[in-house]
Formats: sequence, C-alpha cells, structure tokens
Amino acid sequence: MQCPQASPWDASIVLMKGTTDLLTLLRKLKIHWPYRCQNFLCPEGPGYVEWSSRQKKYQAAVGPCQLCDVLHVLCPDCGSCIAVHDFHEGKPFKCPGCPCIYRAGRHEVNEPWVEGRDELDVLLITAAYKDKLRRISLAKAESIITGTKWQDFEVPTHHFVDSGLMEWISEGDFHCLTESGIEDYEKFIRDAEDVLQ
Ligand SMILES: [Zn+2]
Ligand SMILES: [Zn+2]
Repeated sequence: MQCPQASPWDASIVLMKGTTDLLTLLRKLKIHWPYRCQNFLCPEGPGYVEWSSRQKKYQAAVGPCQLCDVLHVLCPDCGSCIAVHDFHEGKPFKCPGCPCIYRAGRHEVNEPWVEGRDELDVLLITAAYKDKLRRISLAKAESIITGTKWQDFEVPTHHFVDSGLMEWISEGDFHCLTESGIEDYEKFIRDAEDVLQ
C-alpha cells in the first residue's frame, strides 16, 4: 500500500503520557527564553535583550537591547517585555499587560535598575489614598487581597508596614498611609504613564 504524502500542513505531534515524576521535573526546569527588543526603531534588529538582573520570583528583570541599548523590563506577573525608551527612564510607567507599575533607569556606571509596585501595592495604596482619612479597613484590605495572587499568603500586607508605607491604627483595624505612603502614591502610582510599544 502506498504511503500518503505528507501535506505542508501536517505537524509532527506525538501524544505522550506524562508520569508525575516527569511533570515534577518539568515544573522545576527553568527555561530562559530569549527576548527580542521591542523598540520598533532597533537598527538591524530586533536585537536580543541582555538581562542584567536575573529574574527572581515576583521580581522584574531589567536589561538593555544588545543593538540599540534601549532598556527593557520583564514583568513577572504577566510576562510582558516592555521597552523603556530614554525619555521614559526614571519615570513611572504602567505595565501594558497587568496593573503593575514600574520605574527603570541606569546608575552612573550604566548599570540598569528597576523598581515596581505590583497589583496589590497599586490597589491598596490607591484605595487608602482615596479615603479622606488616608486609610483602609482590614475587611476592605482583605477583599482586595482576595482578588490578587497574594490571596494564599498569610499576611500579604506585612511588607507595606515593613517598608514604612502604611501603619496599623486602632489596634489593627485599619491600615493608614504614612507620609511616605502618600508620597509613594503621588510620585509613583498616580503619575504612571502608558508606555509606547
Ligand atoms: Zn534594540
Ligand atoms: Zn505585567
């Protein structure tokens, strides 16, 4: 019997049964995909982004394009790779794929840096700022946390208190923004711009 010719639309897909050991191994395996430059004016590009900070869980990576030197930020929450043009360096910008807000730039030795506010930071600080007493009740904070990735963490608001952005008042019934929490909202979250992609 003649074998039918493979059409160009055929794909070589082999269905496999995965054992739990194999699936566990795959979950532990970290594959670092190369990211291409997002600057549409990249000469002879797009080049590859050279990440100068290794991405840790919940932390954004930052690095320049090897060809045009435009900085890029890799959002750990949604996987967006965002070009930060020189006129945006040092200014807060919104992640195009999720509610995170970032600011990236370079130190004097040209070493890139990035800092971010994730979804929970943005939602909690904004909700507290919009309250006239600049505070948010524990119940409201909990309902906001429920909709974020932090819902399974024991005390997701710890870092707001540790970083001095919020403090407990009324024996722990309210989170209140501190002076630096108010400044953080006004200089970081409120002024964040959309980025050109
Ligand atoms: Zn480039
Ligand atoms: Zn994102």
